[in-house]
Amino acid sequence: MVKAMLTRHPIMENLDRLVACRSCDLLLDRVIPPPGKVSRCPRCHAPLISNKRSVIDNTLAAAVSTAILMTAAIYFPFISLAEAGLSREASVIDAIGAFANGWSAPLTIAVAAFIVVIPVLRAAALIYALLPLRLGNAPAKGAARSFRLAMSLKPWAMAEIFIVGVAVALVKVTDLATVTLGPSFWAFAALLLIVVFENTTLCEWTIWRLLDPKRR
Ligand SMILES: [Zn+2]
Repeated sequence: MVKAMLTRHPIMENLDRLVACRSCDLLLDRVIPPPGKVSRCPRCHAPLISNKRSVIDNTLAAAVSTAILMTAAIYFPFISLAEAGLSREASVIDAIGAFANGWSAPLTIAVAAFIVVIPVLRAAALIYALLPLRLGNAPAKGAARSFRLAMSLKPWAMAEIFIVGVAVALVKVTDLATVTLGPSFWAFAALLLIVVFENTTLCEWTIWRLLDPKRR
């Protein structure tokens, strides 16, 4: 009987004409800003729709940069410590492997996934979804699914959190030994800037519109 009382809300018929603020969930009528402008939420001032041609370029550049920097971060030394004539060099792989023994072994899988595998997978998904659009072609097969995967993985890509944690730990270590930062450390530091760049330039609404020809 309760089932019979439920009816489809009229708002469900007009979802394409609405936009939700990702910051405060306020639901608004979709108004596309003039070219080159960004519309903002009237309540929290977060960006809603960015009508800029550079959205694809910026997001693609961030994804390609992430893939290149992560490759460099894995292969180059991360940090070296020297004290009393002894020195030790460590890579990111060494840092991940540090948890491999004993009860903390599952941490190895988690750390590898959060700081390397998921950021790379996410960059690959973005490149697959956006590169054909950048080249002026139709979206690749499964491009929408690929972009949805990239967006759902976003909270789990934590390379930038890793480097902030390392920076805090280094404050303690520098009192105990001479620390030399390797190219891998600086690659992670650059990834931190790229995450900030992507967060400020990526407009999901614009990309969904380009991926779905019916919304163009
Ligand atoms: Zn808002």
